[in-house]
Amino acid sequence: MSYRFCPACATPLEMLTRAEDGGPKQRLRCPACEWTHWNNPTPVLAAVIECADRDGQILLARNAAWTHRMFALITGFMEAGETPEAGITREVGEETSLAVDAVNLIGVYDFQRMNQVIIAYHVVARGAVRLSPELAEYKLFAPDAVRCWPAGTGYALADFLRSRGHAPQFIDLPPRPPAT
Ligand SMILES: [Zn+2]
Repeated sequence: MSYRFCPACATPLEMLTRAEDGGPKQRLRCPACEWTHWNNPTPVLAAVIECADRDGQILLARNAAWTHRMFALITGFMEAGETPEAGITREVGEETSLAVDAVNLIGVYDFQRMNQVIIAYHVVARGAVRLSPELAEYKLFAPDAVRCWPAGTGYALADFLRSRGHAPQFIDLPPRPPAT
């Protein structure tokens, strides 16, 4: 998110240096009311879904907005007033219609390109898959056949596989389209 105007008083923002706990720091700030754009990373929830009623296969899905044929974890933003565990349970339900049996933390991963921090869970789920319009298609993978990718959520999948005694194998990420 890039701001041009102060969300508190509508004055144009400027790059201004101010004393902070860690020393002088230049940030986008409001010269009128001192509002500061901290630009802290946004938490994103992610799920490695293990289908309890499909031989423990892992469900990966392809986002409808992606031009490349890449399958990845179910992800979503936390809502105000919910715990991370409740958030990923909600996201899995909304995006796949699966019922969640159990939620266990895999780990926390940085994703600096998107200024996000990924909180990744192993989610045991069951039921009929019905995708939300955000998702174009899904695939089920045996844990010893699924491939990881070298980015935040891919490292979470790799750590999950290692915890189950599998040696994760990585694929290259498809080239990203130029930024618009
Ligand atoms: Zn202001």
